[in-house]
Amino acid sequence: MTVTQALAAATALGLERIDAQLLLLQAFGRAQADRAWLLAHDTDELPELQQAQFLQLCQRRASGEPLAYIVGCKEFFGLDLLVDRRVLVPRPDTETLVEWALELSAVRNDSLAPRVIDLGTGSGAIALAIKKALPRATVHATDASPEALEVARENARRLSLGVEFRRASWLAGVEGRYDLIVSNPPYVAANDPHLAALAHEPLSALAAGPDGLADIHTIVTQAPAYLRSGGWLLLEHGHDQAPAVRELLAAAGFQGVASRRDLAGIERCSGGKWLELG
Ligand code: GLN
Repeated sequence: MTVTQALAAATALGLERIDAQLLLLQAFGRAQADRAWLLAHDTDELPELQQAQFLQLCQRRASGEPLAYIVGCKEFFGLDLLVDRRVLVPRPDTETLVEWALELSAVRNDSLAPRVIDLGTGSGAIALAIKKALPRATVHATDASPEALEVARENARRLSLGVEFRRASWLAGVEGRYDLIVSNPPYVAANDPHLAALAHEPLSALAAGPDGLADIHTIVTQAPAYLRSGGWLLLEHGHDQAPAVRELLAAAGFQGVASRRDLAGIERCSGGKWLELG
C-alpha cells in the first residue's frame, strides 16, 4: 500500500482528508507539521507495521474518537497542549474568551499584572494562554477532577508557564480576590442528543443539569465574593444560552453585562463587571 492508497483507504472509511494525513504522519512517527513530506512521498510503500498501525488509528477516528486524543495534542491560542481522555479537547471557540480576558486586562491594569483564576481548567488551556500572553499576571486555576489537574500541570511544566493549580469545585475554598474570573464550564443540557457525538470526552466537562445552566449558575453566585471591585467574570456558554446567562449575571448584580461572538458568529461568552458599593 502506497501513501496515496493509504489516504484513499482512510477517506473510504469516512475520514476527512486532513485527519487521514495527520494520522498517517503519526503512523510514520513524523511531526504533525510535516504534511509536505506526505505530498513528496505519495508513491512510497508503507511498511507492514505502519500500515497496520495507520488502519488502527483510522478505525479509532472513524468510531468518533477526537483526532486530538489519537495524536495526543491540540493547538490552542498558539500553544501546543497535551490532551487525552482525562480532559475536554480545547475548542477554537474558547479563544474568544481568552481574547476578551486579555483586552480587559490591558484596559484595567497598566502593569498587566492582574490576578486571574480559571475555573474548571481541564487541560489548562485558558489559564496557560493567559499566562503566556501576560507573564506578569498571577494565574490560578481549579478543577474538580484530579485527573484533569494532572494533565494541566504537565502542560504548564512542558510550556514553562507558572500557573498554580488546585483541586476545587469552582471557587469553593479558594482564597483572595481576583481581577478576572474566567471559565468554560460544562453547559450542555443533560438530555441533549448532541452529547452522543461527544461520548469520548468526559461527561463531567460537558453536561450541566436539565438546562445546561447549573454550573454557570453556581459560578455566577460564587464569583462576587472573589472579585475585586471593578473585576470581571467571563463565561463561555452554549450557542443559545447568551440571553439566559446575561440575565443570571444582571440578577446577581453584575454591571456592563455583555456577550461576545465566536468565529462562527455565535454569542459564545458573556460577562459582567463587579462593583463594590460604598
Ligand atoms: N463546546 C462544546 C461542545 O458543545 C461544549 C463545551 C462545554 O460544555 N464547555 O462541543
